[in-house]
Amino acid sequence: MIYLDNNATTPVDPEVLNAMLPLLREHFANPASPHPAGQAVARLVDRARRDVAILAGARPRDVVFTSGATEAANLAITGVLATAPPNRRRVLVGATEHPAVRAAAQAAAELHGGRVQTVRVHPDGAIDLSHLRALLHPMTPSTAVPPSTAVPPSTAGSAADPEGSGGSRGRGEADEVALVAVMAANNETGSLNDPRPVAALAHEAGALFLCDVTQAFGRIPVSVTETGIDLAVASAHKMYGPKGTGALIAGRSVRARLAPLIHGGGQERGLRAGTLNTPGIVGFGAAARIAAAMMDDEAIRQRAQTDLLFDLLVGWLGADALEVNGPVEDGSARPGMVRLPNTLNLRFVDADADAVQSCLPDVAVSAGSACHGGGSEPSPVLLAMGRSATAARESLRFSVGRFTTVDQIHAAAATVARAVLRVQSLRAVGSGEVPPPAEPGEPELPAASGRPAAGWTGEVSPTPGRTPELPVPRSALP
Ligand code: PLP
Repeated sequence: MIYLDNNATTPVDPEVLNAMLPLLREHFANPASPHPAGQAVARLVDRARRDVAILAGARPRDVVFTSGATEAANLAITGVLATAPPNRRRVLVGATEHPAVRAAAQAAAELHGGRVQTVRVHPDGAIDLSHLRALLHPMTPSTAVPPSTAVPPSTAGSAADPEGSGGSRGRGEADEVALVAVMAANNETGSLNDPRPVAALAHEAGALFLCDVTQAFGRIPVSVTETGIDLAVASAHKMYGPKGTGALIAGRSVRARLAPLIHGGGQERGLRAGTLNTPGIVGFGAAARIAAAMMDDEAIRQRAQTDLLFDLLVGWLGADALEVNGPVEDGSARPGMVRLPNTLNLRFVDADADAVQSCLPDVAVSAGSACHGGGSEPSPVLLAMGRSATAARESLRFSVGRFTTVDQIHAAAATVARAVLRVQSLRAVGSGEVPPPAEPGEPELPAASGRPAAGWTGEVSPTPGRTPELPVPRSALP
C-alpha cells in the first residue's frame, strides 16, 4: 500500500510511540494524584504542554488538551457564543472550513440564538478579505458586496448561511459578530490563509478570531501570539501523533470568556473535565517536538515530492488532462500565496474520482474529505472555490507525509495514470465516442505523455520500480 492520504491521518512516528509506551506501562498514575507516581506523570504532561505551546508560539497555560480538533472547535465556538452578549451572536465562517468548525458553529448558533454566515473564498481557496470586511461591517455602504459576486449556489442560501453573501437581516440591527472562523490551511487543497489580516479585521470589529490550524500545525510555522489568533484548534493525529488527542490554544483573557462543554473534576483549568489522556498527550508533545525539529526539511522534501508527482502525471497524461485545485506558484496565483507543501489536489478531466479510486487498491488517496464520509456528493470545498460539480467529482487529493519515498511517488504516479486512462477509456467506450476493442488481447502501455490509444483498456501490469521518462522534469529532488 502506498499511503498518500496524510491529510486524513498520519501514522504514529516510532519515536512518538516510544514516548507513549511508558505511560501505558509504568507511568500509569493519574496526574491529578498528589503522590509521587502521579506527580511524575504530571511532569510528563507539563512537558508535553510546553512542547505543544512552543510549536504554537503560545504559553503552556494557554493549551487546553482535548480529544481532538473537533472537540476543541466545539469548545471554542460554543464557549464564545454562550457568553457573548445578545447583540453579538453572529459567527462568520470561511466557505471551505472543515465540518468540525462549520457544524459546531451551526449548532452553537442554534443553541444560543445566533446565526452563521459564510465568508467567500477566492478560486485558489484563500479567504476573500473584502467579503469578510463587508460581513463584519454590513452597514457600511462602501463595503457592500455586489450581488454579482455572491457565493456559489452550494454555499449561498444554505441552512448555515440564510443570507447568502452577507445578508440583509443584520443591516440596521444590533447584530455584531462574536467570532470569525478562518482556517490556516485547507485539508482538501492545502490552500493557505495568512492569519494576520483576518485577525486585524476581526479585532477591528470587536470579534474574536478562531483559526483551525489542524493541517498547518507541524507542517508550516504557526505562531498564535504573533499573528493575533485568539483561539486555535489542533490535532495530534495529523502530525504523527495518536488519534483522540488535540488542543484548544487560547490566551488567558479569551479563556475567561469560554464556558466548558464537559463538566466534572475541573481539569484543564475548569475548561475540559475528565482524567487526562496521558499517553495521548505525551504522544502529542513528542510529535510537536519532532515536528519543530524537522519541519523545514520536511517542507522542502514534501514539496519536491508533490511537484514530482505532478510532473510525472503530466508526463503520463498530458498537461491538458490535469487541473490543480488550489494555488499554484506559476505567476497566475496571487503573490505570496502558496499551498501546504505536502498537498496536491488534482482534477483529472473526464475521469470520475470515485471510479479512479476504485481502480487504485494499492494507493490510498482521497476524493473529498475523509472526515465526512465517502458519499458521492461533490466536495463543498471545491464548489466553494468555484469548481463545477463535474470538476469536483473528478478531483483527487494526494497528501504525502514523513514516510513517503520517491520510489513510492514514481510507482503511485504510474498506477494513478493507468487508472485515469482506464476510467477515461471506459467512459469513452460507454458513451460511444470510441468503438470497443474487437478482441480483448494484450493491451499496450500508452506513450509516457499524451492520450491513450482509442480503445485501450488500461489493463497493464506495472513493472515494479519502473516509470516512464519524463519529457522535461520540472523539479529536481534533493
Ligand atoms: N480541522 C481540519 C482542517 C481537519 O482536517 C480535521 C480532520 O480531518 C479536523 C479539523 C478534525 O480533527 P479531529 O480528527 O482531531 O477531530
